[in-house]
Amino acid sequence: MKERGYFGDFGGMYVPETLVPALEELEKAFVKYRKDKQFRKELNDLLEKYAGRPTPVTFAENLSRMAGCKIYFKREDLAHTGAHKINNALGQALLAKRMGKKRIVAETGAGQHGTAVAIACAKLGIECDVYMGEVDIERQKPNVMRMELAGARVIPVSSGSKTLKDAINECLRDWTTNVRTTHYLLGSVLGPHPYPSMVAFFQEVIGKEARKQILEEAGELPRAVIACVGGGSNAIGIFKAFMNDNVELIGVEAGGKGIKSGKHAARFSDRKTGRVGVLHGTKTFVLQDKFGQIMNTHSVSAGLDYSAVGPEHSMLRKKGRALYTYATDKEALNSFRLVSRVEGIIPALESAHAVAFALKYARKCSKEDVLLINMSGRGDKDLEYISRFAGKKT
Ligand SMILES: *Cc1c(COP(=O)(O)O)cnc(C)c1O
Repeated sequence: MKERGYFGDFGGMYVPETLVPALEELEKAFVKYRKDKQFRKELNDLLEKYAGRPTPVTFAENLSRMAGCKIYFKREDLAHTGAHKINNALGQALLAKRMGKKRIVAETGAGQHGTAVAIACAKLGIECDVYMGEVDIERQKPNVMRMELAGARVIPVSSGSKTLKDAINECLRDWTTNVRTTHYLLGSVLGPHPYPSMVAFFQEVIGKEARKQILEEAGELPRAVIACVGGGSNAIGIFKAFMNDNVELIGVEAGGKGIKSGKHAARFSDRKTGRVGVLHGTKTFVLQDKFGQIMNTHSVSAGLDYSAVGPEHSMLRKKGRALYTYATDKEALNSFRLVSRVEGIIPALESAHAVAFALKYARKCSKEDVLLINMSGRGDKDLEYISRFAGKKT
């Protein structure tokens, strides 16, 4: 773990004093249990026998033929609950249990993280409250139902824009009041230290598996590893294992309706509004206006629709170790349809952003080049949105 939770110039612990003891308690527990044999065994058992790990790496044969290089998918879409979020939810829930916490609170936007948390809590027998904006509750009925079926209480948030960032604020407020009994289970490599390091730790399993698998399947390391970047947890999770290899690491943000439109979540690609700032306890790239007010974001994929990016990504970009680019709504929707049709895999709209950029990148590749795309989740959750908003082509 980095000194006091900094990644170069980014990260840190920008929180009210009342939260510092809780974060320190959490850091201590994390440092202790990450090395604890019994804890690791229990977590591995959960990941294998409950969440379905290891997830495979699949050669996307038909897509490869079209793209003119070898494309492989790391199949987080096959994990229980349909995305990588379960890795972190199980890890933190188990940690909370070891810390003697009786209750877990979580924020959720589209309900994907909330669902993973509710399910982890059901499995481990922990009380669970999920804060969710009223607007999101209206938009994401099936996920609200999934959370409630798993025994969680979904608490509607009616402040501000009634979406994710307001849910995070309410969640932090709850945690501040109930810190003795409660753990706050944050969903990505965001927030104050130790969350970015801790969530990365629980997601590293993706890259550890994938590096071994691609060496077996392709017989070599990939030329590039490509992942979509919301908060950045699936990307960090797969990047980590390739950090010291001669492999390009590429993060793909949500380009929404295009950078010039201002309707996107491209914190790195929009040089005008994407600047260093502090949001929800961490110093990183944040979309903000010239007065430092947080800008609203837009994306077809709820999972990429957030104004800040994980601080470790800000460092990787500054160091030049990873490259960041974007794909637009339209490009992601096209890839969503293409992968469904030629591979029979319906990708999450988030993951479709990574595919969209991979197809562009493939133009400069030779037939022998290997690309590894993190298929962060499956697209079943997006079908209603697609049929309602994205036209008649489906
Ligand atoms: C939440 C989500 C993301 C974005 O979160 P990261 O922390 O950036 O990984 C990406 N893909 C899927 C399928 C998601 O559910």
